[in-house]
Amino acid sequence: MKKYHIWTIGCQMNVADSTHVGAELEKLGYEPTDIIDEADVLVLNTCVVRQSAENKALGKLGALKPWRLQHPQRTLALMGCMVGVRPSPQLLSAFPWVDVFMAPSEAGPLVSHLRNRMTARELKEIEEKQLALRHQLQDEAWPIASLKHLSLAGETPVAAYAPVVYGCSHACTYCIIPFRRGIERSRPLAEIVAETRGLVAQGVREITLLGQIVDRYGYDFDGQRPNLVDLLEAVHEIDGLWRIRFLTSHPSYMNDALLEAVARLPKLMPHIEVPIQAGDDEVLARMKRGYTAEDYRRLVARIREIIPDVAIHTDIIVGFPGETAEQFQRTYDILEALRLEKTHLARYSPRPGTVSARRMKDDVPDEEKRRRHQLLEAQHQRISAELNRRWLHETVEVLVEERHKGKWRGRTPQNRLVFIEDDRDLRGRLLDVHITWTGPWSMQGVAADRLTRARNVSTGLTLH
Ligand code: SAH
Repeated sequence: MKKYHIWTIGCQMNVADSTHVGAELEKLGYEPTDIIDEADVLVLNTCVVRQSAENKALGKLGALKPWRLQHPQRTLALMGCMVGVRPSPQLLSAFPWVDVFMAPSEAGPLVSHLRNRMTARELKEIEEKQLALRHQLQDEAWPIASLKHLSLAGETPVAAYAPVVYGCSHACTYCIIPFRRGIERSRPLAEIVAETRGLVAQGVREITLLGQIVDRYGYDFDGQRPNLVDLLEAVHEIDGLWRIRFLTSHPSYMNDALLEAVARLPKLMPHIEVPIQAGDDEVLARMKRGYTAEDYRRLVARIREIIPDVAIHTDIIVGFPGETAEQFQRTYDILEALRLEKTHLARYSPRPGTVSARRMKDDVPDEEKRRRHQLLEAQHQRISAELNRRWLHETVEVLVEERHKGKWRGRTPQNRLVFIEDDRDLRGRLLDVHITWTGPWSMQGVAADRLTRARNVSTGLTLH
C-alpha cells in the first residue's frame, strides 16, 4: 500500500486544507502514516504569517532534503502560504528537492503529479475504484475532506474545520495572507454542507466554519446570497452535528442578523472571534482596518446584548510601525475596559510584499515589543482568571474531545477548556460537568452524574 504523511503548521485553514489533500490522496489509493520513512508522499503545509512560522517550515524543508534525495521514487510537496498563489522563481530554485509546489487549498498539482507517474493500468484501476465508490455512495457522501491522517491512533477528531471563504480581498497593511491566499472566493453552500455531512459521518460533532473574514461569506455571489446566516441555517440542519462555530469575523461585517442567528440557533455556540488588533484610532487607520476603537466598543456591547453568555475572543498586534507608548496604552485600556474572554497576542513582524513592510519603518525595538506583549499577557491572565471564576460551582455543558495527561479534555459552549477526571470513555460525549476549579487558561470539573460520589469522597464519606 502506498502511503502519505502530512505535516501541517499554522492556522485552522491549513488544518482544513490538509484534510482535503488527505481525501484526494486516498482517492488515488494512498493511506496515511505517522512514520515519515514509510511515506511515499510527504506534504508540508506551511505558514508565513509571522517570521517564526516561516522559520519552522524552512527548518523542516532542510531536514527533508536527504529524505527526498536518497529516495528518487518519493514525492515531496510544499503547500500553503510559503508557496502562495504562484511560487516565486526564488522559491523554486531554493528547494530543488521539492517535487510539487501547491498554492493554499489547492490539492490539484499534487494529484496531477502523482497521476502522471502512474501507469495506464494503475490509472484505470483507480478510475474503476472511484466509479464503484461513487456508485456505492450517494453523491453527497463523496469524500471531500478526510480525517484519516489525524486519526492514526484510532481516535477520530471530535471537532473539525471547514473552509467557507477562501482567500481575502481586504488589505490590512501588515497582512501577507491576501498575497498568499489570493482573492476572496466563497465556496458554494451545497459543497460546504456536503463536506460537513462527510465529516459528521466520520465522527465529528463540532464544526468550525472558516474564512479570513468569515462574516463576508457570500459577498462575492450574485445578489450576495446565500450569506453566512443562510449557510449557518443550512449547516444547522445536519443530523449528528451538535455544535457550530465560525471564525474569523471582521468588525465591519458583523450585523444584527448574524448575531441574532447565533442567539436563535441552538447548535450555534456563544463564541465570537472578532479581532480588534489595536485600540488606537491612528494605528487602526494605518493598519487599514476600517473601524475605530469606538466602533469596536459598540460592537462588543451589541454582541453581548444579543447573545447571552457570549465569549468574545480578539487578536492584537503589538509594536506596529510607529506605535507609541501612548498608543499602546490605548490598546491596554480598551482591553481592560472590555474584559474579553480571550486575546491572541502577536508581536508585529514585517512580511514581504505588505504595505507596512514596504512603506513603514519597523521602528518599535524588539525589546519594547516584548515588553508590550508581556504587559498584555499579564493583563489577559488576570482578566481571564477573574472571568473563569464565575463558572466555579456551576454546571456547564462540555463536549469531550480527547484524553490528555490522564484527564479528559473538552470545551464549553464558550470554548473554555475543561479537564475532567473520569475512568469512563467519555470521548465524543456531551456532558454536564460541575466545575470544581478554575484558572486563567482552563477549568476542572466532575461529570454531573458522578457528582454525588465525588462530593462524598471529598467530604470523607464512604460509599456503600
Ligand atoms: N483574517 C484573520 C486572520 C489573520 S492572521 C483576521 O482578520 O484576524 C491571524 C492573526 O495574525 C491576525 O489577526 C493578526 O493579529 C496576526 N498577524 C497578521 N499579520 C501579522 C504580522 N505581520 N505581524 C504580527 N502579527 C500578524
